[in-house]
Amino acid sequence: MNVLVINAGSSSLKYQLYDMKTENVLAKGRVERIGMESSILTHEVEGQPEVREVSEILEHTTAVRKVLDMLTHRRFGVLRNIDEVQAVGHRIVHGGETFSESVLIDADVKLEVRKLFDLAPLHNPAHMMGILAVEANLPDVPQAVVFDTAFHQTMPKTSYLYAIPMVLYRKHQIRRYGFHGTSHDYVSKRASEYLEKPLEKLKIVSCHIGNGASCTAILGGKSFDTSMGMTPLEGLMMGTRSGDLDPAIVPYAMNKEELTLSEVNSMLNKHSGLIAISGISSDMREVVQAMNEGSEPAKTAFEMYVYRIRKYVGAYAAAMNGIDVLLFTAGVGENSDVLRKAVCEGLTFLGIELDEARNGVRSGDPRRISTENSRVEVLVVPTNEELLIARDTYRLVMTAKEAAFDE
Ligand code: ADP
Repeated sequence: MNVLVINAGSSSLKYQLYDMKTENVLAKGRVERIGMESSILTHEVEGQPEVREVSEILEHTTAVRKVLDMLTHRRFGVLRNIDEVQAVGHRIVHGGETFSESVLIDADVKLEVRKLFDLAPLHNPAHMMGILAVEANLPDVPQAVVFDTAFHQTMPKTSYLYAIPMVLYRKHQIRRYGFHGTSHDYVSKRASEYLEKPLEKLKIVSCHIGNGASCTAILGGKSFDTSMGMTPLEGLMMGTRSGDLDPAIVPYAMNKEELTLSEVNSMLNKHSGLIAISGISSDMREVVQAMNEGSEPAKTAFEMYVYRIRKYVGAYAAAMNGIDVLLFTAGVGENSDVLRKAVCEGLTFLGIELDEARNGVRSGDPRRISTENSRVEVLVVPTNEELLIARDTYRLVMTAKEAAFDE
């Protein structure tokens, strides 16, 4: 079965086509600048040069059609015709309290996803455009939704409630949800396979450090606590997000700087974090380079970033009364040996011992970077959210088919 994985944003749409027999990616790409002048479709098939096509794509239905045209293109395509797309899986940022696992899409699911628009106004409406666009192009193909928040629905109240009036939770669902769930789920399972130890027996702190960053305490395979909250702003310092801060700063800064709601939102989400402190970039590579060239602000930004990860690792080790595995994933976590070393250097009290030679090795596979004597296994586990979305979609579609067959 071929599964098309879609991640729809308001002006972009990323896709990967999987052959589920081999779990190979047959093709992948993205459409950017949807609804703007000269939209761009970039399409990649392994072993072939990237194809770029510039055209006017005004909305998501056309974007999906262009993707399907490309997948079945005489020269650049990988399918003979679009019937060979047998299922579609969508990434959805916010599943609220409604969704604790992936589901097949039907009218009820669409209604529930719509109800969650308020909680993720920048993301969920765009995902819905993606779902409707696929429906318009492939009306008979089953679709599934996989939520970034679902994995964290196992968090206990003590982790997910904010200590504010309960009416806000009851009336407006203001609570912590957590994000990057698909990634934390995938890498913790990979870690357990790699270590050949059952997930149920492990206390894992998973650090997903990319443009967005979050730490999760995973106890016996289930999310116990995570650093992102009601929105992805809470927790670690990120490329452009502030992470944790005193909430009283918001009204204070709004008053002093005469900021509107949207300006303060944009300040905390887009102009804070690494870019704000370094004054150079939100990209960790550029911050590290500037630090190595002697930039003081870049050094401060790097050190703050590391310090906050270390604080969360310590907090989650305490939350679970122990830690067996510390794992790093995502763009920075997988690629920056400098960052991993800096985080681990301050955690020797937990029994963490990094092996510098192993830490320096690059590989696309899970690997151990701690010494043989380290009391905690420190791992780098490359994440693959798209593969997990494809697997969930495949499983749901096959289960539904079997159920229909049994009837
Ligand atoms: P996203 O949150 O957008 O999915 P990724 O997980 O792809 O992000 O991570 C992207 C980030 O990874 C980039 O902003 C870049 O800073 C960082 N990155 C990639 N390679 C390196 C590297 N070698 N060293 C440090 N940071 C890196």
